Amino acid sequence: MDFELRRAREKLEQEQRERKLKAKLKLDREKKAKQEAIRQREAIEAVQRARRLDAAEAQAKATQQIEEELLAGRGVAFSRVLEAVPYEGAGDKIKLPPSCFTELSDQGAFDKGPLHFRVSAIHQSSLSDLKDAEQNKRTTHAGVLEFTADDGVVGLPSHIWSNLYPAESPMVPMVEVCYVWLSKGTYSKLQPVEAGFSDIPNHKAVLETSLRQHATLSEGDVLTVNHGVLTYHLRVLELKPSSSVSVLETDIEVDVIGADPTAESTSQPVLQPLELGKLDSGVVAEGSYVYYKFQIGDDIWGKISSGDAEIEVKIESENHDGDTDLYVSRHPLLFPTQHQHGWSSHDIGSKALVLNSRDLGLGPGTYSIGIYGFKGTTKYKVSVSIRDKSNLKIGQQAVSSTLSADADTVECQNCKHYIPSRSIALHEAYCRRHNIICQHTSCGVVLRRDEVKNHVHCEECGLAFQKEEMEKHKKVFHVPLNCPCGIVLEKEKMVQHQSVECPLRLVTCQFCGDMVQAGTSAADVRDRLRGLTQHESVCGSRTAPCDSCGRSVMLKDMDIHQVAVHQKN
Ligand SMILES: [Zn+2]
Ligand SMILES: [Zn+2]
Ligand SMILES: [Zn+2]
Ligand SMILES: [Zn+2]
Ligand SMILES: [Zn+2]
Ligand SMILES: [Zn+2]
Repeated sequence: MDFELRRAREKLEQEQRERKLKAKLKLDREKKAKQEAIRQREAIEAVQRARRLDAAEAQAKATQQIEEELLAGRGVAFSRVLEAVPYEGAGDKIKLPPSCFTELSDQGAFDKGPLHFRVSAIHQSSLSDLKDAEQNKRTTHAGVLEFTADDGVVGLPSHIWSNLYPAESPMVPMVEVCYVWLSKGTYSKLQPVEAGFSDIPNHKAVLETSLRQHATLSEGDVLTVNHGVLTYHLRVLELKPSSSVSVLETDIEVDVIGADPTAESTSQPVLQPLELGKLDSGVVAEGSYVYYKFQIGDDIWGKISSGDAEIEVKIESENHDGDTDLYVSRHPLLFPTQHQHGWSSHDIGSKALVLNSRDLGLGPGTYSIGIYGFKGTTKYKVSVSIRDKSNLKIGQQAVSSTLSADADTVECQNCKHYIPSRSIALHEAYCRRHNIICQHTSCGVVLRRDEVKNHVHCEECGLAFQKEEMEKHKKVFHVPLNCPCGIVLEKEKMVQHQSVECPLRLVTCQFCGDMVQAGTSAADVRDRLRGLTQHESVCGSRTAPCDSCGRSVMLKDMDIHQVAVHQKN
């Protein structure tokens, strides 16, 4: 019995122990689970907290951005990220997609005057290095040309493109276009990047003409100014009243300071001043030009026009293995070339050009001399002198008396010269033995037998030359030249083309008086028939009040208006 009782007690105790252990384990498990849950919840809460913070921050940032946009846009908030594509065009006006038009007009942007935008390049490659990207973010400003771009795309003219991407453009160029309100510019200070810009006659007017195609200016921008085939760059140093301004319908003061003297040597040639009667020396390499300029004042011009003096431009070659060509032009043609010049000399070695009252296009003003390295490196001396002719006149007249054919002469059958009849037999016998007549069409020059080998005609144009001159003649006159406008012609035709046909030639606008590129003929049919250039067609569309009736009339219609309305001729 005892034994049974003991066993029963032991079993009970055993069961109690096991229960206790189980309970403890359960408690432990529950405790652990609880802790895990807390940990997890805390983690989730932390994430949620962080998210809430981010969201709030993003919200605040977005609000701030819109506020900034509203402030910059004076009540218009417009900002788009678009893919940039370049388009051929002058000025700073961009092309936007039609959807932008809707968005802008819904906000009444068009009632606030001309539209201006801040355009910034986005560098997506350096997202990790955001601060760096922010610093390198290039920004400029633009007007708008039209709303015809494809969706998601903005068309940038070369001015905007080259200011956003001065080095190389990225694979996918993305830009941010932001509507901004700009105050009207009152003052601008610009500095030419290259020397020589101030050599352009009336260079400020040239710059102003170029600025007319702009809606905005921003400090740090580089403006490209085309003058005929020449291209100049000017950096915008300072603007007033703010660092970016509107230049539409403003009379902004334009201040052009001297080119930076430390600027590295440029591709653009420079005109070195040359004093009349003084000798200058220099070196020119094959294929390049060296330029000089000289001045013909009114007093000297008076002497030249009356025939008492003439201008002599002289090049003396100092070495025999080099050769030059000489080109002279009167301004506005600044840099005479093989293509475009007033006067030229292609003589081998030393050469001189004499300009006198018989030369059309001569007059008082500034002239340029271009020395072209035709062959090898040439050391030269260059000079311009005014030669007095007044005391030569009498002598000249004496020399110019012509030999009239004597009655008692006979024509030599060989050389076609008239010979006194008493000696004709002797002459002809001698003549046939020693002289040969050149058989080339319309040449007929009498040549000594030893000269025949040296007398050659160009197979292209028929002109006669000494044998050693032929190579140069062919190279100068018959090698086709490329005009920057795309046409290919021989020299003579090229000179003609560039003076009367080429769209890149400079002409004086009859409405604003500036030297401007002729351009293609006017797009407007009526203007084309009136013989207006593209520039004149646009420039002449400006209006002015009529002197007689005060009505606003387009400048190009003023003549017709005067005749048709006021019967004036
Ligand atoms: Zn003869
Ligand atoms: Zn001949
Ligand atoms: Zn020829
Ligand atoms: Zn051309
Ligand atoms: Zn004009
Ligand atoms: Zn009138």
